[in-house]
Amino acid sequence: DLSHGIILYLENITVSFDGFKAINDLNLYIEAGELRCIIGPNGAGKTTMMDIITGKTRPDTGSVWFGQQLNLLKMSEPEIASAGIGRKFQKPTVFEHHTVYENLELAAAGERTIWPLLTSGLSAEQQDQLDEVLGIIGLTEHVHHRAGSLSHGQKQWLEIGMLLMQNPLLLLVDEPVAGMTQQEMERTGELLTSLAGTRSVVVVEHDMDFIRSIAGKVTVLHQGSVLAEGTMDEVQNNERVIEVYLGE
Ligand code: ADP
Repeated sequence: DLSHGIILYLENITVSFDGFKAINDLNLYIEAGELRCIIGPNGAGKTTMMDIITGKTRPDTGSVWFGQQLNLLKMSEPEIASAGIGRKFQKPTVFEHHTVYENLELAAAGERTIWPLLTSGLSAEQQDQLDEVLGIIGLTEHVHHRAGSLSHGQKQWLEIGMLLMQNPLLLLVDEPVAGMTQQEMERTGELLTSLAGTRSVVVVEHDMDFIRSIAGKVTVLHQGSVLAEGTMDEVQNNERVIEVYLGE
């Protein structure tokens, strides 16, 4: 029931590739403002699940609901993005030759404008938002630096900032701390934690220490369905989860 604080609802989802069920009767509920971690061994279906939410992959059966009764299975990928679902892939895809400011400006303009610098620029409201996002992602001092000169961690934060310029209600984040230093990981944990609350954040991650540090509810996927759900302590002490990870 979406009226009770559930922002995303995947029900009885099955996806087959050449007869192989990558997702097998998956049920997932994400609450508004929640920080959720998705873990599971390679091949568990994590990427396919994210692809279903964003409309990149269509399930054979089941339903996907978002926000106020939006049926995502009836919407195109751009429509789903416009409805408020932002996705951050593992590798940063910022515009290296442009400044941090220009990257955020481009993101604010959306995909429909070829290049915002040729148009009238940002509205006063968007300018305020850009300043706020710079603070959130910790790049205020780098605003006029080229994105290509940033560290790996800073590029990841810039890309999250670009998504924030689109005002998402739900952020999907794929392996955010891969390749980061310990300090960058801590900063990323703080960032993702601070973003939840006013929006929902779903993180797919392999780094168990990182997942523990951000303390969201954890969902363990295995063979395309939910094996366990709970706190990190609960799922790590779950016998079925231990078996699956030992058997990897
Ligand atoms: P995870 O992200 O948890 O590692 P995936 O969602 O990538 O898992 O994959 C789940 C299963 O589906 C794997 O066995 C994978 O090989 C298979 N799979 C994923 N995408 C495709 C595809 N396009 N064609 C065929 N098999 C696929």
